[in-house]
Amino acid sequence: MQLLQDYEGYVAEREQALAGLRRYENEATALEIEQSNDAVHFLYIDTVTEAASKFLTGFPGKCLYAAKANPHPALLRLLWAAGVRNFEVASIREIETLRRDFPLATLYFMHPVKSRQAIKRAYELGVRHFAFDSQDELRKIRQETGHAEDLKLMLRLSVSQVGAAYPLDSKFGATLMEAPLLLAHAQQIAEKIGVTFHVGSQCLEVEAYTNALYNIANMLDGCGVKIDMIDVGGGFPVSYPDMEPAPLQEYFDAIEKALQDCGFGDLEVFCEPGRALVAAGGAVAVRVELRRGQSLYLNDGYYGALFDLGQLGWRYPVELYRAGRLHVPSENSLFQLYGPTCDSVDKMKEHLALPDDVCEGDWIIFRHLGAYGYAMQTKFNGFYSETMVAIEQAAEVA
Ligand SMILES: *Cc1c(COP(=O)(O)O)cnc(C)c1O
Repeated sequence: MQLLQDYEGYVAEREQALAGLRRYENEATALEIEQSNDAVHFLYIDTVTEAASKFLTGFPGKCLYAAKANPHPALLRLLWAAGVRNFEVASIREIETLRRDFPLATLYFMHPVKSRQAIKRAYELGVRHFAFDSQDELRKIRQETGHAEDLKLMLRLSVSQVGAAYPLDSKFGATLMEAPLLLAHAQQIAEKIGVTFHVGSQCLEVEAYTNALYNIANMLDGCGVKIDMIDVGGGFPVSYPDMEPAPLQEYFDAIEKALQDCGFGDLEVFCEPGRALVAAGGAVAVRVELRRGQSLYLNDGYYGALFDLGQLGWRYPVELYRAGRLHVPSENSLFQLYGPTCDSVDKMKEHLALPDDVCEGDWIIFRHLGAYGYAMQTKFNGFYSETMVAIEQAAEVA
């Protein structure tokens, strides 16, 4: 791998990626020295790098990072240093930021519904890959790119979300019935055509990917359309409490085999991981501002980095820090957690087991929150955190 061939270059690039971030040996030191009023976001340098190299070496195709999962500039630079050169984007802001910071990156505009301005600007900024799932969107792309002849168009299909902890099918995607006509139209105007899908986030069933591929192969056999590209999307899982997925390599191997079986061996192949690239590489520490009985009031919540705890009741590995050290209690009990804003929606959906004696000033660290944590923050009521620090040594997850 290039990363190993040019190790010194990589180290230099990594150092540059982290410029501007304060770095600490571990979380305890970071919390002690930062004395932050806001939540503290941790970035685990080695964990991010390892996740990237798993995808870059193991996946049988190109790896596009789904930038929405965590768009922090230092994280993006770290991924770039690790060898990630392709990004899946959904908005003009994501495109402009990435184009500015990574002029050599390839950007894939995979949102199936785009504004006309966004299409036009994206094309001006060098984007050639666009997703669509309707005739009308195809027309918009054609018009706003000035009838360009170098378009690479990807039909988004809706596929079964069996096995996904967070299904994504109800909003986008053409059906297999609609696909032949849409592909035929795309073929008339595009340099290359392809198919893309998303099996749903945190997908625990390898078969969700392979079944989608077999179904697409059947559909293509039936209509005789030839495609150039296939994109298996995101959805690759990471471990959370009560969710221990199969190793990524099992997904990669199964996908590779299905690609061969489907006769897709010669196609350009993409995947678009968000969660699996960055979840384990981040964590969020929030502080207890008040305890009232079994209720805890925190400095971050539903409108901050804890959206998935508030909305979905998602569970993360948790640790408690007190006075700069890990606090290991004799007993746990259940607590209702509240975020800092004045809105009553700002509370966590599930009770959380924490040390009996948790009190004001304690920090709760939610691990594996590198995806959809920092990214979800709003500025509602003035509560949000720009405090991101790098941690050298990823502590063992209990
Ligand atoms: C969100 C998204 C992804 C990333 O999904 P994960 O489940 O985080 O891997 C990839 N592709 C598209 C089109 C998305 O919307």
